[in-house]
Amino acid sequence: MTRRVFIETYGCQMNEADTELMFGLLRHRGYAVADSADEADVVLLNTCAVRERAEERVFGRLGWFKALKERRPEVVLGVAGCMAERLRESLVERAPHVDLVIGPDAYRRLPQLIDAADDPAADVQVDVRLDKRETYRDVHVDRVPGVSGWISIQRGCDKFCTFCIVPFVRGRERSMAPAEVVEQARGMASDGFREITLLGQTVSSYYERGHDFADLLRLVHDVEGLHRIRYTSPYPNDFSDRLLHTLAELPRVGRHIHLPVQSGSTRVLKDMKRGYTAEGFLDLIGRVRRILPDHALSTDIIVGYPGETEDDFQRTLDLVRAVQFDFAFMFHYSEREGTFAARRRADDIPLEVKKDRLKRLIAVQEGISKIRNTRMIGRTADVLVQGPSRRDPQQVVGRTSCFRTTILPGEGLEPGDLVPARIVGGTSHTLFGETIGA
Ligand code: SF4
Repeated sequence: MTRRVFIETYGCQMNEADTELMFGLLRHRGYAVADSADEADVVLLNTCAVRERAEERVFGRLGWFKALKERRPEVVLGVAGCMAERLRESLVERAPHVDLVIGPDAYRRLPQLIDAADDPAADVQVDVRLDKRETYRDVHVDRVPGVSGWISIQRGCDKFCTFCIVPFVRGRERSMAPAEVVEQARGMASDGFREITLLGQTVSSYYERGHDFADLLRLVHDVEGLHRIRYTSPYPNDFSDRLLHTLAELPRVGRHIHLPVQSGSTRVLKDMKRGYTAEGFLDLIGRVRRILPDHALSTDIIVGYPGETEDDFQRTLDLVRAVQFDFAFMFHYSEREGTFAARRRADDIPLEVKKDRLKRLIAVQEGISKIRNTRMIGRTADVLVQGPSRRDPQQVVGRTSCFRTTILPGEGLEPGDLVPARIVGGTSHTLFGETIGA
């Protein structure tokens, strides 16, 4: 009888892409995809380790799956991804009903691990070996059909920022061969995808077989049938002028750059081992604005990093005001066991101070986001339609090239259409438009 697998995904787009990879590996072995855990023979949680809260959510969910295991002990319950890599065997101390623990570089062995876990007498199966060459070349990725999809062009990270667990749980940086990326992009275009996002921890440091990220963008840009190519996330230090000029020449690459800054204080950036200064970042932004004047910018910021003074925080606010990001993902620092900062820096900013700084930062950024979004009113933009709006099925939701969510009247529009629209209204995060010529 065909066995069925259900995978629940937590965390970032890299994990979403890895879930599709695991589906591909298991489908190749004859598995079918289950719509719910109750219908599945194998239940996997593909997890994130970036924040403690994400891990606690997974433990909560594992508690819920305990009842499923009691009802149907033959179900194989597994934990995959970054939390599996970080906690390894110790994960089973808190969740002894887990049958397998598998890290992000071991997915090729997933079918064998499931087979081994099928034996009721078997110990928990653990494979968390990192492999600095694994890019999952030649693995068929079982993507959910749609308008937008991902290709993981790079795995791991070599930057070792002091606050970040990623290099420890995803291993060393490695890039997928350009020919493989192009082949996947072609396959996706012929499967109906119209937008591809190239994924990696630091995509701008992509380098493989003599091709850097600018070369790769050119190659993917040549793939027929794609309306848009996006990428996330580049690293400020590797963002060369050559890449900026290449972006200016490739109209189908989305006019949006997500450039994580983390802090506006050079002192804090140095302590984070980010490898650039606030002035250097502002200089890069100046070049972006000059060479790519129509690009939107977004960022990631951490407040309350160990030792961050009010003056450091003010510098972050100054940088945010100077850059005028279109939007930002903002967090307060939370210590991750195993990182350099957790070992060598006291988490010395009181929680209420962290929360207060975060609130003040969000207020500043929200004001900027609103101005920048509503500035679009009266302009025209090409909107790539994703599907019906959740609030009103008579309307559709799509994105402009600069990554602004836009609602349009739905009549005559299909997912995947690229339509010119006039923007007639907007809030901090959403635009409302009318199709031109409708
Ligand atoms: S660049 Fe820094 S923050 Fe980003 S994944 Fe690598 S270590 Fe983490």
